[in-house]
Amino acid sequence: MSKRDYYEILGVARDASEQELKKAYRQLALKHHPDKNPGNKTAEEKFKELNEAYEVLSDPQKRQRYDSFGHAGMGAEGVGGFDFGRGGFGDVFGDIFEDFFGGPSGRGGRVRPERGADLRYNLEIDFEEAVFGKEAKIRIPKWENCPECRGTGAKSSGGIRTCPTCHGAGAVRFQQGFFTISRTCGHCNGEGRIISDPCPQCHGKKQVHHEKTLSVRIPPGVETGTRLRLSGEGEPGAHGGPPGDLYVVLTVKEHPFFTREDDDLLCEVPISIGQAALGAKIEVPTLKGKAQLKIPAGTQNGRTFRLKGLGVANLKGHRIGDQLVKVGVMIPAKLTARQRELLEEFSKLSGDPAASEEGLFEKVKNIFE
Ligand SMILES: [Zn+2]
Ligand SMILES: [Zn+2]
Repeated sequence: MSKRDYYEILGVARDASEQELKKAYRQLALKHHPDKNPGNKTAEEKFKELNEAYEVLSDPQKRQRYDSFGHAGMGAEGVGGFDFGRGGFGDVFGDIFEDFFGGPSGRGGRVRPERGADLRYNLEIDFEEAVFGKEAKIRIPKWENCPECRGTGAKSSGGIRTCPTCHGAGAVRFQQGFFTISRTCGHCNGEGRIISDPCPQCHGKKQVHHEKTLSVRIPPGVETGTRLRLSGEGEPGAHGGPPGDLYVVLTVKEHPFFTREDDDLLCEVPISIGQAALGAKIEVPTLKGKAQLKIPAGTQNGRTFRLKGLGVANLKGHRIGDQLVKVGVMIPAKLTARQRELLEEFSKLSGDPAASEEGLFEKVKNIFE
């Protein structure tokens, strides 16, 4: 299956800004989130594809590499742990050089310590949790180095023997034309040693599988697409290498009343014609309780008021966003006889609205001419 272009997946131009990427990702992630499409394989694939695209394009270094080399620059995995040197180009070239020149150390294809793979965990959180932060508990299935044999796979130190095929070199060499070719030893898989007395707990596999509960501190101000790194909680390393990292990727649920634009909270509040024309003090819900908002006389429909400091704490700085309240003037759909009478009188007194404002009057007049 050929991979789709990351920019195409996100539906953005190649010169899209960081903000544009974030916005496109946020919208699509909410649409294709597995929790919203249970059992839908296509949505699941789309969600994976989307995360991969965003993970690359949101990282300036990875984006530059992708722009220059396309998917080929991203290594076999695409997501997670594909820096140069492991999983990326480095390994591809490394293998070629090892084949021809007998490896960097001259010892052939003997295995070196390898860092474990990075893992990702998709976590959905509530809108308020994203604003105020929380301590989340997640359960993840994990392979860990066997505690019984400390990852050696053998019952005791005497249970490990030098490989009889490669005599501990981890590689076997043979001549081909001008070159001496070195191949990883198949008997010991390049380890140079074999286990003759396997550990009873892991049966020589060196690793055991279990579920682990992890505590994740979600800081205030996170949003859909935010990645939290739990260092060393990825897959264990091989041959004494360090473990990979676990990335918790967040999706923030929508709120029935608020939406978010970066650090600002947006909401819409209805007011009556009377409140708009005469002015009023109204109560507005905020995420920290109710707040008073003064509506000045003569407020127009769609006007936005700013409640300072009632937004979201910025993840990277000390700034706190604002709450923006957009008022919608409600036109009554039904009138009592008395209300009708008063409005008719009001209407007569007001005359033509176009005539009351000169600028508008000019514009309207021009349309008719
Ligand atoms: Zn061997
Ligand atoms: Zn063991």
